[in-house]
Amino acid sequence: MVKRDGRDAEDYHEAACYANTQVALAARRTPSTIRQPMPELPEVETTLRGVSPYLIRHRITEVIVRDKRLRWSVPDTIHDLEGQRITCGERRAKYLLFHTARGTLLLHLGMSGSLRIVPPSTSWRKHDHFALTMDSGKQLRLHDPRRFGAALLIESNPHEHKLLRDLGPEPLGPQFSAKQLQAACTGKSAAIKLVIMDAHVVVGVGNIYASEALFMAGIDPRKPAGKVSLPRLAKLVAAIREVLASSIEMGGTTLRDFLNEKGEPGYFQQTLRVYDRAGEPCRLCGAKIRKVVLGQRSTYFCPRCQK
Ligand SMILES: [Zn+2]
Repeated sequence: MVKRDGRDAEDYHEAACYANTQVALAARRTPSTIRQPMPELPEVETTLRGVSPYLIRHRITEVIVRDKRLRWSVPDTIHDLEGQRITCGERRAKYLLFHTARGTLLLHLGMSGSLRIVPPSTSWRKHDHFALTMDSGKQLRLHDPRRFGAALLIESNPHEHKLLRDLGPEPLGPQFSAKQLQAACTGKSAAIKLVIMDAHVVVGVGNIYASEALFMAGIDPRKPAGKVSLPRLAKLVAAIREVLASSIEMGGTTLRDFLNEKGEPGYFQQTLRVYDRAGEPCRLCGAKIRKVVLGQRSTYFCPRCQK
């Protein structure tokens, strides 16, 4: 993992929270930095919204596998999607699902993947591994330098697939609630931050989002999960929703940028309340923000505002 001033590179991209998932950033170097963007839930959701108009209700005319060596080998059956119409698309955790009568195309962006929509005549880039040509006259391309992404065909109910069936609820959906979180926390001595980052409890709460939401809820990230009261868990649920929803909203404002083939991304920076601000004054009370390591991840909090 690339380090930058002690930050996890994996986290850093979250802060940069590039809306368009263009991976041009991976190659972009500032004097002391190599940023490794990794798509998180907001980027995946933004991607779904961006590509959907070009895919949904359109027929797949050709499936192109330029390199099947992704995280899991792209199956030959994926060509069965040729001729199929995509009826709908959805996101589950960080998986994108596109449904057809023949089965569901599952895409994952891995550590470095991005999707873009281009005219089929566009020249291929080095790491464009997978593509769908659509009868809309456009092509969807999966670009993934590190090849941790995935393109699979699931022929049964995708929600019962082994990759998806054990996932916790969606953070923005109705099943994620204070009661449900309380059930996951009861009797646990693990730090509350580690519990909310556990995908069996709730999906999509990355390291930056966890630190920020705990600050918004006034909860010390180190506090044993079983000792956080129900009203405070309710605040935490609301804070998690707010931090993810605002990130998606910001991503939406730059959606159209990642659809053009030049793909010069319009990055946005979230205003971080505590993350990566060790030693700086708390925006609420002025106390110095502290950094600790929990579960090998950098964790930031205000010792005065968070109890
Ligand atoms: Zn404070």
